[in-house]
Amino acid sequence: MNRILSKLQIIFLILFLITNAQAQHRHRYRGEHNWGQNKRGLRIVTSFSDFASITKYIVQEKGYVQFISSGQGDPHFVPPKPSYAMMMRNADLWITTGLDLEVWSTTLLDKARNRKIMDGEIGFVAVSDGIALLQKPVKADRTEGDIHLMGNPHIHTGPMNWKQIAKNITIGLQKVDPGNAGFYVQQRDKFIDMVDRAMFGDELVNIFGGETLENLLHNKTLMTFLEKEYQGEKLVTKLGGWMKDAMPFRGKKVVAYHKNWAYFSDTFGLEVAGYVEPKPGIPPSAKHVMNTINLIKSQNIDMMLIASYFEKSTPQMIESRAGIKAVYLPLCCGAEKGVNDVFDLMDFWIKSINEKLN
Ligand SMILES: [Zn+2]
Repeated sequence: MNRILSKLQIIFLILFLITNAQAQHRHRYRGEHNWGQNKRGLRIVTSFSDFASITKYIVQEKGYVQFISSGQGDPHFVPPKPSYAMMMRNADLWITTGLDLEVWSTTLLDKARNRKIMDGEIGFVAVSDGIALLQKPVKADRTEGDIHLMGNPHIHTGPMNWKQIAKNITIGLQKVDPGNAGFYVQQRDKFIDMVDRAMFGDELVNIFGGETLENLLHNKTLMTFLEKEYQGEKLVTKLGGWMKDAMPFRGKKVVAYHKNWAYFSDTFGLEVAGYVEPKPGIPPSAKHVMNTINLIKSQNIDMMLIASYFEKSTPQMIESRAGIKAVYLPLCCGAEKGVNDVFDLMDFWIKSINEKLN
């Protein structure tokens, strides 16, 4: 009996060590550090905490990184507090999405009176540059509401977009601090590798490289590709990271409150069948809520994704009438305890959805 127990204990110990090693490997640059805390370094202000998190990986101890919103409120409507304008007054770099998400920042930029960070100056970074936008309107009009006029601006919800965001931030850093350009490029590449490994797992990245896997994902051919055999095994057996973790809900139909999750859904294969809002930024009418309840019932949808800053009464009513489960997710890192950076955020979203599934 003792011998059996000890064998079991060894097996558990090995399993524990393996999972622990994987978790540590995925986040191997993390842990205790003072990145972005150097008040005598570059002064960087970002609109959202996720951009601050990515910036910290690149700038490390060479700068002081602050952000305006952690997504605890609506990212389209951040109140322009005087303290934010003060932050921006002394900034060397202002990092923003660059679409119509931060319309509220115009007032702050006016109040800050800092020429260095105005649009078109070297201290202005639009992280959405070069990102393939989803839900781009066919023609410029307001049939999709008054926000999202240039396409879906919630680019941070797709982890593959973080790589382009990191590239754009690095270009900004190189311009305002050319002496450390080489350092920033090095840290950018480490961050990109970390994203690829967190996304696909080490095995596939070691065989094919992150860029190939990203292209396959982007062209919607990754899943077919993973069905191919490689050294006597299907490639899908080598899949790790968030792609593997998200497999249980791949192909699942959901309802969302707002079009927050477009890039996340596109990446992990969720189908958003309807929205609680009739149009982005337009509060739900009683009639639209009824239509949504009917849609949920007729299509047997059992999950609803809601950014945690939204009011809860409509989702609760839909839950009770349609028998659907609401999953409340923090939009950005820092909006929930223990969700300290973008990697934590993606872990948290995927874990929360999987928990609701079971
Ligand atoms: Zn939006």
